[in-house]
This record gives sequence, C-alpha cells and structure tokens, in this order.
Amino acid sequence: MSLHQDLIERDRKVTFHASTHLRDFAHGDLPGRVITGGKGINIVDKDGREFIDGFAGLYCVNIGYGRTEVAEAIYKQALELSYYHTYVGHSNEPQIELSERILKIAGMNMSKVYYGMSGSDANETQLKIVRYYNNVLGRPQKKKVISRMRGYHGSGIASGSLTGLKAFHDHFDLPIDTIRHTEAPHYYLRAAEQHGVTEREFSAYCAEKLETMILEEGPDTVAAFIGEPVLGTGGIVPPPEGYWDAIQAVLNKYDVLLIADEVVCGFGRTGSDFGSHHYNMTPDLVTIAKGLTSAYQPLSGVIVGDKVWKVLEQGTGEFGPIGHGWTYSGHALGCAAGLANLDIIERENLVGNSAETGGYFQQQLKATFEGHPLLGDVRGVGLMAALEFSPDAKQRLHFDPALKVGPRVAAAAMEENLIARAMPQGDILGFAPPLTINRTEVDEMIGRAKRAIDRVTDELV
Ligand code: PLP
Repeated sequence: MSLHQDLIERDRKVTFHASTHLRDFAHGDLPGRVITGGKGINIVDKDGREFIDGFAGLYCVNIGYGRTEVAEAIYKQALELSYYHTYVGHSNEPQIELSERILKIAGMNMSKVYYGMSGSDANETQLKIVRYYNNVLGRPQKKKVISRMRGYHGSGIASGSLTGLKAFHDHFDLPIDTIRHTEAPHYYLRAAEQHGVTEREFSAYCAEKLETMILEEGPDTVAAFIGEPVLGTGGIVPPPEGYWDAIQAVLNKYDVLLIADEVVCGFGRTGSDFGSHHYNMTPDLVTIAKGLTSAYQPLSGVIVGDKVWKVLEQGTGEFGPIGHGWTYSGHALGCAAGLANLDIIERENLVGNSAETGGYFQQQLKATFEGHPLLGDVRGVGLMAALEFSPDAKQRLHFDPALKVGPRVAAAAMEENLIARAMPQGDILGFAPPLTINRTEVDEMIGRAKRAIDRVTDELV
C-alpha cells in the first residue's frame, strides 16, 4: 500500500491508462504507482522508493533522468517562442538546426525530415508517403505494405496494423487489409522447429518466405516493407546473421521500398548511431522518435530519402501542396529538447558507451544466465537485451502461459527495486537502460535481476 494511496485512488477514478487491465485498475485490484522524479538511471516514486530503471521508461530516456540542461533549453525556447505552425513553409530555428543534425547523423542519402509527436503517428506518415509515391508514379495498385510477425510499429489503426502482435489486433478488427505480415527473424524460436539450421540458413529462409509472399500477392501490388533493425517489443531479437542483406536483395528485386523503423534503435541503442548503420541497411525511409529527445518532449520524425523525396516534389508539381500535416509538426519545444539531447549524446559519447558498456553488459548477462535452469536464450546488442525463459533450453520448450513466468520475474525484479520489462507474446524479460549506464551500475542491475530470477526458479521447481 502506498503512503499516498489517496492520489492513486483519484487516478483510478479519472485516468484511462495505456496497456493496462482497465477493470482491475479502476476497481483497485491492480496497484498504482506515482513517479515523481529521477536521476541518472534511477527513478523515484511518491513514497521515496528508488528503482533502477532498466528499461529507460519505454526504451526512450537515452540520456538518463534529471538533465537540467534539457529543461533549461526547453524553458529558454518557451520564453522566446513555444509554438508556431510549420505549414506552408513556416519554420522555427530549432527545427532547422535539428533537421540538419539528424540528416548529418543519418547519412544514407537522406533528404528531409518531417516531424510528428510519436512513433505511431510517424509511421502513419510513412504509409501516406508510400501511397502518394506510387500514385505519383502511376502505379495505383502498388499499395500493400509487408511487416513482420512480432514487429512493433505503434498502436493506431494503420500503425497498429503494421504491428505484428496479437493483443494489438484482437478486438480492434485489425490489421487493415493492405497490410501483410511475414516471418519474424526470431532464430531461437524457430530453430526449435528447424533443427540444425544455421543463422545464415534461417536468414535465407526468411528472405525466401518474403519473396514467396511478394510473388503470391503480386509484385505490382507490394509497395513497402517495414522493419525494426532489431526486433524490439516483439522480444528484443537482434537479426540472425545475414538477415538484412538477404531481405534487401529481395526488396530490390521487386522494387519494394524499405522503411527502417528506428524508433528504438535510433540514437545509440545498438552501439551505432542508427540500427541501419549497425546492420548495413540502406532504407528509403526512416522512422525516429524516443531517443531523438530522450522523451524530454514528445517528438518523432520521418526521414525521407532522396529517391522518395524526388517523387514527392514531382507529385506536388502535378497536384499542388501535399495534403498532410499535424498542428504540432516541428514543435519548437520538441526541437529545442532534441538539440539539447543530441548535444549530450555527442559530448558524453553515449553511442560509444552503448557499444563499450553495452558489450560488457552482454558479456555479463551471458556469464550470469547461460545455463541457468530458467533460461532458454540470452541475447542482445549494445544496450538492449532479453532473457527468454524456458523449462528446457535444449529443446526450446515454452512454459505454460498460465504460469505467467515473464510477468512473475518482472514483478520479482520490482521487489528488488529493478524495472525490467515483461515483453508480450512469450516469457521474455527485456532490458534497455539509459545509455549513460556504467559498469558498476550494470553489475548492480544484473545482480538484482539474478536474485529475482532465482526466486521465481525456486517457486517453479
Ligand atoms: N516503432 C517502434 C519500433 C516502437 O518501439 C514504438 C513504440 O514503442 C513505436 C513505433 C510507436 O511509438 P509511440 O509509442 O511513440 O507511438
């Protein structure tokens, strides 16, 4: 029971919480928590209890909590200009500078940045761009978008359709009919059914499945493929060896655009600036959010590559101004936060730290958990990792979902004052701490996770 139960009871009466058992929360069967502050990798609740945030919020607070420098940049910008729209060529100085910096970091023949407020709305923009692009090119049939099972791209009608997780479709009549889902690049999961395949063979199998889908649908109907460089919410799964090369060869063969959803991977999470750099991807369009501002302000972006941009220009030449715009696109406070955030990432070499301390983190996770009786798979890259639980690692069996092993481990971690996330569709515990984390903090985080996992193991065996 919280010392501030009155606050939680008021919340129950008035707030519709994201991804929550609505009835249980509204009726007091699910505890609440009010977060009041944070510093570095730690957050604090209203009762003064401190947790290591091993998931950086929702893998977004890359620079860690309590950065007054970002707060000051937002304040300074608010005194000058909080907002003016960016329609019809209007701009603000932080937007101009932020776009320049994003394009410089992205490289990859990228041309322009369009801003939104969330990863979901940025992916809605992506889908509109893809449709417009093919209409301008006189290919009105080429509209379908292929995503992956276990992919996560948001929770709107269209972005939620791109998402390949059951809970985001069921009872919402999704996916919409122009979206298809192909094989998830989840080597560990599928290797159980395909004994003896190597990662490279599995990548070739994923590419073959994609090609078959494109041929069955008709290549003249398939417009784009969207994927996270590292599968995120679907289980934090780095791609098997050779995956993106094999996939891109198929996309090129059938003139299918590649959208890299960098909402999680962008700005250092993998140990490279972008996941696309890490895996040698050459996307036509890129989605960014989260690490762009480290969530100090809501801000997302669509980075449009040269090839697509030329066609957008051609289209407006033929049809007039583009019929797309959000009131808050290029919001001056979001862009000011983005600039201050990028200053910190660069000055403190947080991308380098993600590679270096991330390497240590991956090594320590393997050393601690490989061979542990509850573990099936230990995987990750940079500062993102997952532990997948299994009653029999060799045979890659699954626990009965009714045992709720993943959520139980996450709850036991909370008892240890560690936040790690139980990922959907499987018994998977995810880690994605702020990129500021150091080795001592990594050791502490893993120590707490170990105690939690040992406790649940004792309950189960
Ligand atoms: N794309 C990816 C890869 C994500 O992980 C997320 C959110 O976690 C989104 C898109 C959606 O972003 P938002 O929740 O800001 O709408």
